[in-house]
Amino acid sequence: MQKTVVVAGGGICGLSIAWKLLKRRFNVIVLNRGNLQGSATWASAGMLLPSFSPANMSPGVSQLMYESALMWSDFAQELELTSKLDIEYRTEGTLRVALSESEMHELRSSYQRNEASYPPIDWLSKSDLAGREPSLSSDICGAVYSANDKQVDSRRVLVALRRAVQLCGGSLLDDAEVCDIVIDEYGARAVKLADRLVGADVVVIATGAWSGLLPKIRVPVRPIKGQILTLRMRRPIWIDHVVWAPNIYLVPRHDGRLLAGATSDDVGFDASIDPHVSNNLRIRAENILPGAFTLELLEECVGFRPYSPDGAPIIGVGHCRGTIVATGLGRDGILLAPKVSDIVADIVATNQAHASRNPFSPLRFDNNSPMLSS
Ligand SMILES: Cc1cc2nc3c(=O)[nH]c(=O)nc-3n(C[C@H](O)[C@H](O)[C@H](O)COP(=O)(O)OP(=O)(O)OC[C@H]3O[C@@H](n4cnc5c(N)ncnc54)[C@H](O)[C@@H]3O)c2cc1C
Repeated sequence: MQKTVVVAGGGICGLSIAWKLLKRRFNVIVLNRGNLQGSATWASAGMLLPSFSPANMSPGVSQLMYESALMWSDFAQELELTSKLDIEYRTEGTLRVALSESEMHELRSSYQRNEASYPPIDWLSKSDLAGREPSLSSDICGAVYSANDKQVDSRRVLVALRRAVQLCGGSLLDDAEVCDIVIDEYGARAVKLADRLVGADVVVIATGAWSGLLPKIRVPVRPIKGQILTLRMRRPIWIDHVVWAPNIYLVPRHDGRLLAGATSDDVGFDASIDPHVSNNLRIRAENILPGAFTLELLEECVGFRPYSPDGAPIIGVGHCRGTIVATGLGRDGILLAPKVSDIVADIVATNQAHASRNPFSPLRFDNNSPMLSS
């Protein structure tokens, strides 16, 4: 008989793991606190940007991002086929723009840092930029075009994954907060909800920024708050590419929505919306897209990115036998979902942990971990 895998968390990470396990014929139950709107995935801009890694990013994480980026096209196609829903996977690419000499300097150094690893990235002249996006500010003094960057509507992805999990025979329960994991001498046996136990052979912890709150699961994840706006574009104030500047990004949707984000604050689970932050985002948007300040505000939203202490994902067998952790995806969880879900499905299917060779293992945060002491 196939194993029953209980996945705690119904964001992109938990749902894509559930979907991959169902394709491998496991029994899968997804338990999600609240509904789909409480997740970082719901708040996310859905950019799939592996091409400009920050200077301090470890090569292992960059590699994971590149590999996942390459998987996205097939992942999107298969998800759309299975769910029969459009997830707005878009391939126009990204424009990185600079408005000052210092921003130009930063753009040049990231270009040099990333040129070899993920071509093509092209410098654009002012007229090239105006040809691609006529509405952008003429004050922009430099721009780079990354053809390999893609984007999805992460809310559509979430809805499609939920549909795919159900169509493939999985159970998906909202308002089902996992309070604890029942562990005996053989490992995880069940998860505890407020009113009952749900039996499990394997428990996957994919509860995003809340992963550190589960008793017994020592996952050092903290929330990084992101506030993001949705405006309504009206022509001629309109863009078709993702446009990224050092302190603002703009992400267009086909229906005319324009996401402007996002802040990054280490303030715990403070879900309040700060009107000053929204105003600042609108001012920054105006600097690169004149007229943006006057666009109708459709929504202000907050989400919590799950961050690990070293900034790398946490993927692998946990401290308790029968538990697998998949979290810490930080600001790139949408991009990373295809690869991370494959890794977790492989661990469940092969019953192999490879903890000592896994740079993303949750055990790396133990004081006596060989990965930390080496
Ligand atoms: C403003 C913003 C913009 C972003 N933009 C991008 C982007 O452009 N590209 C990109 O790649 N990434 C982006 N990210 C990051 C990305 O959204 C996250 O990395 C990703 O969504 C994390 O997915 P997850 O499934 O691990 O967590 P989540 O999506 O947060 O899902 C976790 C789920 O677990 C549930 N849960 C919590 N505790 C429990 C429990 N005890 N029992 C059951 N369920 C529980 C939660 O309610 C939630 O539904 C952005 C994030 C934010 C906030």
